Amino acid sequence: MKIPPPVNPGLDTLPVYVPGKPIEEVARELGLAERDIIKLASNENPLGPSPAALAAMQQVLANINLYPDGNAFHLRKRLAERLGVAPNNLLLGNGSNEIIEFVGHGYMAPGADVVASQYCFLVYPLVTKLFGANFISVPAKDHAHDLAAMRAAITPETRVVFVANPNNPTGTRLANDELLKFARDIPPHVLLVVDEAYIEFLESPPDFISVIRDGTPANILVLRTFSKIFGLAGLRIGYGVGHADLVAALEKVRQPFNLNSIAQAGALAALDDVSHLQSTRANNAAGLKYFATAFRELKLEYIPSHANFILVKVGNGQQVYEGMQRLGVIVRPMGAYKLDEWVRITIGKAEENERCLSTLRQTLP
Ligand code: PMP
Repeated sequence: MKIPPPVNPGLDTLPVYVPGKPIEEVARELGLAERDIIKLASNENPLGPSPAALAAMQQVLANINLYPDGNAFHLRKRLAERLGVAPNNLLLGNGSNEIIEFVGHGYMAPGADVVASQYCFLVYPLVTKLFGANFISVPAKDHAHDLAAMRAAITPETRVVFVANPNNPTGTRLANDELLKFARDIPPHVLLVVDEAYIEFLESPPDFISVIRDGTPANILVLRTFSKIFGLAGLRIGYGVGHADLVAALEKVRQPFNLNSIAQAGALAALDDVSHLQSTRANNAAGLKYFATAFRELKLEYIPSHANFILVKVGNGQQVYEGMQRLGVIVRPMGAYKLDEWVRITIGKAEENERCLSTLRQTLP
């Protein structure tokens, strides 16, 4: 039986996003006990969710018969205070992935170009192709964004440019003045999306949102998420910050109840749990240092990272990934990014990092 021919011609050739393997699935496939497996594959928070968020979510359960607040009044207000913007500068999404899709609805169609760097987050080309637009991949420089080349790739057909800072999967970051200069130089017919999913892992993060606070450019959208440092990946909640007119335009494609009540309550409480955020950042910094030192000793090439993961060159990435998985350690192969010789390791707790490293040693050819 054939399915009816899709009206969207892109569906035939659209690649499928392959997420990091869940522990339960690996346990089932390899006949291992779940407790013997660690997952360092999806840049999740190894310290778990904030206890304050957990308590707040429990409270909401009693009213789960009611629809959520479609405008997320309390979360929006608190976030706006935190960021020094107005509530109408905020666009809330079911993960920042959903906001990338909103951008697709608003700014991508056949004939439109979308520019991003080589080794960019895979959802950018996926969403671009889903909407039939043309994806332009600009060669990276030393695995990092080449902003001059990206600027040169912008044409009258360009509608969206994605910049992730720090970038996934490379962990590279841009100097703030360089990014600000690039932003100032973006023509007004182009929407610049600056994806700051990992920004909170930086010791002193640049305040790129200041460009929106100033109120001038209406063509910049900054993305953030509760999935990473806040440890709430399972809730699916992220946000965009942009000019009020841009937010109002993109709001039109948002489903009214895209953020469930549990997510709203969890995120609100997590925002104020500064100690959870600080311990996550400290654990991450220690883990990054641990892996970098070990890779230098092992003479393995790696990319110095500013996020909660690290890319390391291991030879045959797929083989090493499979070998490590058989020993109960899930990392991420990078074939989908055309980085076949590399694996990406999410920073875990100290004992997880140690186990990961000894498993890697055992698995290396
Ligand atoms: N942007 C980047 C650069 C990411 O790495 C991720 C998560 N892998 C996301 C956005 C999406 O995060 P979420 O949808 O969980 O908010």
